[in-house]
Amino acid sequence: MNVAVLSGGVGGSRFVRGLLGVVDPADVTIIGNVADDLEVLGLHVSPDLDSMLYTLTGLADEERGWGRADETWNALDTVATLGGESWFRLGDRDIGVHLVRTQLLREGLPLSEATERIAHALGLQPALLPATDDPVRTFLETPAGTFPFQTWFVARGHRDEVDAVHYAGSPEATAGPGVIAALEGADVIMIAPSNPYVSIAPILAVEEIRDALVRRTVPCVAISPLIDGRAVKGPADRMLTRLAGGTSPAHVAACYEGLLDVLVIDESDAPSEPIRGVGRTIVTQTLMTDVAAARRLAAAALHGSGTLA
Ligand code: GDP
Ligand code: CA
Repeated sequence: MNVAVLSGGVGGSRFVRGLLGVVDPADVTIIGNVADDLEVLGLHVSPDLDSMLYTLTGLADEERGWGRADETWNALDTVATLGGESWFRLGDRDIGVHLVRTQLLREGLPLSEATERIAHALGLQPALLPATDDPVRTFLETPAGTFPFQTWFVARGHRDEVDAVHYAGSPEATAGPGVIAALEGADVIMIAPSNPYVSIAPILAVEEIRDALVRRTVPCVAISPLIDGRAVKGPADRMLTRLAGGTSPAHVAACYEGLLDVLVIDESDAPSEPIRGVGRTIVTQTLMTDVAAARRLAAAALHGSGTLA
């Protein structure tokens, strides 16, 4: 059974790790967000792709919630001593990956090819495809001004309320190699419990990808990133409140209008009425406390889609 998953970083990778316990990893294709990518100290950093890589290959620091385990910070300490750009936390082991990626890109390889090489070297089993090889980048419009994603998220600690989100470069962007084929060859399409505005929307901002979802002939299942109307981590709930008017399952579903057949929500969010625009709602425990919980969530989502007996 082929599964294509649209995903951001941390929430998405936790879900995919569960999914790999339920379906053959060789049948899973991850379509990853690249609109958080940035250049730091001359290095091309792809935070969401790397969260996925590290989580699925056992290299992630689970406690910190980002970056690699057993990390040291010598390079960044030196940068800080020299008065260099040190606001974006890059550990030594992490930097090794960015060095290789950056060199491959400078040699002229597209991001998809560089990602494939790194993923292969790290022993990643499922295919990890950047949504696009083109430079789509998220910008947040806030009362304090318009900021690139990482300036808003990391440098300013996502403290500014968001009035609008833009995906620069998306009108010209085309889907990365294999992305449309994966969506067309899937038996089920899943939208991970990632931030709808800054992880999933920039993927859907690539017209070819949105079109492939609109004309799908297989179920599309989204897992809500909210529990009891709140984000497990990060600004998704605040963004939904301000941009969509609330944090109910209906507000989450509205982010994926016309694209959803099934919405998986937490027990704490169970609605009293059917959700408009969603064929079916699956109510289950969605907190991924460990791999077993993530596996149960993935199985419930597949059952709900009718694609797992
Ligand atoms: P990022 O790109 O690293 O910010 O990660 P994602 O966009 O993939 O995931 C962030 C979202 O994951 C947040 O909105 C969280 O609420 C959600 N999330 C994290 N852990 C869980 C969990 O255990 N269950 C659910 N349902 N959502 C989660
Ligand atoms: Ca992200």
